[in-house]
Amino acid sequence: MTDIANISTLDRASVLHPFTQLKDFASGKAGDPTIVTGGKGVRIQDATGRELIDGFAGLYCVNIGYGRTEVADAISRQAHQLAYYHTYAAHTTDELAILADRLVRMAPGKASKVFFGMSGSDANETQAKLVWYYNNLRGLPKKKKIISRQRGYHGCSVFSGSLTGMSFYHDHMDLPYGGVLHTGSPHYYWNAETGEDEEAFSRRRAAELNALIEREGPETVGAFIAEPVLGTGGITPPPAGYWREIQAVLRRHDVLLIADEVICGFGRTGAPFGSHLYGMEPDLVTVAKGLTSGYVPLSGAIVSEKVFKVMEDGADRVGSFSHGYTYSGHPIAAAAANAVLDICEKENLTEHARTTGAYLQRQMAAAFSQLDIVGEVRGVGMMSALEFVADRSTKARFDPSLKVAARISQAARDRGLIARAMPHGDILGFAPPLVMTEAEVDDMIAIA
Ligand code: PLP
Repeated sequence: MTDIANISTLDRASVLHPFTQLKDFASGKAGDPTIVTGGKGVRIQDATGRELIDGFAGLYCVNIGYGRTEVADAISRQAHQLAYYHTYAAHTTDELAILADRLVRMAPGKASKVFFGMSGSDANETQAKLVWYYNNLRGLPKKKKIISRQRGYHGCSVFSGSLTGMSFYHDHMDLPYGGVLHTGSPHYYWNAETGEDEEAFSRRRAAELNALIEREGPETVGAFIAEPVLGTGGITPPPAGYWREIQAVLRRHDVLLIADEVICGFGRTGAPFGSHLYGMEPDLVTVAKGLTSGYVPLSGAIVSEKVFKVMEDGADRVGSFSHGYTYSGHPIAAAAANAVLDICEKENLTEHARTTGAYLQRQMAAAFSQLDIVGEVRGVGMMSALEFVADRSTKARFDPSLKVAARISQAARDRGLIARAMPHGDILGFAPPLVMTEAEVDDMIAIA
């Protein structure tokens, strides 16, 4: 049994929590920490014994659900056999080589190699370095700027945090770092002009991107990074035609496309990767979260044949590829990922996410789209969002001090459901484990 008072005291005294109001937490005004002690399927349990439906799969990552012993066994087996060895200077393990081969075969675009890291943030740092390396090797040393989108989320480290397109991730942290440009968000509901349909809005966004590249000089722009479905910025599927139009601009200017599949990868959209759903042909693909279902940290920067060929051809000139982490390709993480991907295959989780996701979207719309405070119900696959507005006809926003989404999220939590108040705007997000059944979708929506 957890000693709740003692653990709360220790935690309050010593843990620096992410995304937490530090003073309110330290003083106790924000209540005690939630001590999570267990999880099974789509539910977690806290130290008081209370069960909550996890409508957000942790942080959109526990795709296979909690408590899968197959993964625990794989981790244990690998830890007993070989807990650690590095991958520098061509060292490898069985699990790692098998995993890399699987990823190259399943990834969108013409994948060639996988560079392994520990988090989505570090994988996006790697992507930026790959873009710079690639263009240096091509003799294009000025082609380095990376464009991301307002409301895009790509991580919290120095460069990935700069790519993230929400200012509160930058404020007081001296971000963004140089060489990052932001272009408009793909959110039709907020950004479309009167009378503009989705296709026209997509063309306008692509024209804006084109103008930005031409203004900066195409010879200075190396890559465009984006989530197939915008995630933390509001769970926003792209408008019709968006990826077709954007990719045409990128090709015109020889700008690489980095698909940040950290949320969308491994079935969340109901397709293997979000890129598959929207016809994207990325040059670099970032994966994390669902790769291990969050059981252990692991990420990947997947490199296409086109990019790798330049790296390989340049090797005689520049020597070895000087980038890597102590834990790149950690054998325990690789074993966990293989066990997770086995479950995904055996249980056909992508197809399950497609059909259950369609059900989730229908039920969300039926339950919430008529409510006075709901301006938009949106989503795709197993990710969905409610956008709250004070007035549906004018789209007037609530006063931010009312913290509408946070209060609704708290009320849902009090009734036994975790639905996330998204960090930007008045948005309640849902991204449950992919194993969730239709009956559990009904339970979740009934509580919400
Ligand atoms: N990219 C996307 C699309 C994400 O959603 C996230 C995290 O939510 C990241 C990158 C950063 O991943 P991590 O938190 O593992 O660094």
